[in-house]
Amino acid sequence: MTADIPFSRPAPAIDCAGLTRRFATATALDQVDVSLPGGEFSVLLGPSGCGKSTLLRLIAGLDWPTEGRVEIGGSDVSGLPPVDRDLSMVFQSYALFPHLDVAENILFGLSVRRVAKADQAARLDRVARMMGLESLLKRKPNELSGGQQQRVALARAVISERPICLMDEPLSNLDAKLRAEMRVELREIQQRLGLTVVYVTHDQVEAMTMADQIVVMNAGRIEQVGTPREIYSTPATAFVARFIGTPPMNLAPLSDLKGAGAMTLPGLEPGVLAGPGVLAGLRPEDLRLAATGLPVSFVSEEYLGADRLVTVRAGASTLILRLAASADALPETFHLTWPTGALHLFDAVTGRRLAGSTPEPAKGKDLLVPTS
Ligand code: ATP
Repeated sequence: MTADIPFSRPAPAIDCAGLTRRFATATALDQVDVSLPGGEFSVLLGPSGCGKSTLLRLIAGLDWPTEGRVEIGGSDVSGLPPVDRDLSMVFQSYALFPHLDVAENILFGLSVRRVAKADQAARLDRVARMMGLESLLKRKPNELSGGQQQRVALARAVISERPICLMDEPLSNLDAKLRAEMRVELREIQQRLGLTVVYVTHDQVEAMTMADQIVVMNAGRIEQVGTPREIYSTPATAFVARFIGTPPMNLAPLSDLKGAGAMTLPGLEPGVLAGPGVLAGLRPEDLRLAATGLPVSFVSEEYLGADRLVTVRAGASTLILRLAASADALPETFHLTWPTGALHLFDAVTGRRLAGSTPEPAKGKDLLVPTS
C-alpha cells in the first residue's frame, strides 16, 4: 500500500436488484439487476434518456426507487440518505463555490465534517500533489481553466477518502484534447486508490477507454454488461452492435445479403438460410475486397487520413467498409468477404444475438430456418 492510498478498507461492490423508478410520465428504470464490482471502474453507457443518471442517483441516495433495492458492500442501503452511503460524487457542472479558493473548495466537505485542522492540512497536501494542484491552491475557480476546475472537483471527491466515487458525465464540458488527457488521469487515480467508480456517459469512446466493465443501457433496461472487449466483439443485442463502434456495425437482413447474389456467406453454415427476421452484422473493419463473395456496388467514399470509409450497396442494404487510405481506387462493382468469425446474427424482432459467426449445428438450426 503506498502513501497515496488514503483509506485502508477494500472498496465495496454495489449491487442493484429489481431496481425500478417510475415517474408520472415515464418509467426511467425497469427492473434493473446489476452488480458493480468493488475497486473497479464501471461505466453506465447509453443514449440520452435511457436511465443512466436515474440509476446513478438511486445508488447515490439522491432519489428513491419505486421498487427494488441497492446494496453497498452487501448491506441494503435503500433507506439511507447519501451522507450515510460512504460515497463521493463528481458532476458535469463542477459545483465549485465561486467565492472560495481552490484549497477551501477541496476542503469544504472536511470542514463541514469538522475534521481536525492538522489532518485537513496533511490530506490537502497529499491530494494537491496527487492531482497536480499545488501551485493553484490560492486561486478562485474563475481563475482556472475547465480542466483545472474539473481536477479540483475530483480532488474534493478524493480527499473525502470515501471508497466509492459516482461520476455523472464529468468530462463533457472539456474540449476533446483535455477530455482525452483527463480520461487517462481519472483512470490512473481510480486504479491507484482502488476506488469503486460508477461513471455515467453517453460517449462510447470514454466507456471503451476507461471501463473495466461497461453496462449498456437502453430505455430503462440493461442490454449487456461486459468488458469493453466483450461488448465490442460479442454484442448481446442489435442495439449494442449499433451503439458501439465508429462507424457502428453494419446490420442488414440476412435474406438481403443472400438476395444480393452471394453464393455463400463466410461464417454462415451452408444449407441453412435465414428465416424471416434474421439480421446479419458485420463490422466495417472486417470487410475485405475479394475475387468472390458478396457482390456489391460502389456508392461513395470518405477520406479520413489513415483510412477511408467506403459506402457500398448490397441488394437493398447499404454497408460501410473501412479500407486503408492507400488502397487502390475501387471499380463500380466488386465482391466482399470477411473472416468466418466476423459474421454476427441477431433476431430482428427481439434484437437478441442468435449466434456468433458459424452457428453450432444443433443450436444454429433451431434458430435459422433451413432452405426449402
Ligand atoms: P441523459 O444522458 O440525457 O442525461 P439519462 O440516460 O441520464 O439521459 P435519465 O435522466 O435517467 O436519462 O432519464 C430517464 C428517463 O426518465 C427519461 O425519459 C427522463 O425524461 C425521465 N425522467 C428523469 N427524471 C425525471 C423526473 N424527475 N420526472 C419525470 N421524468 C423523469
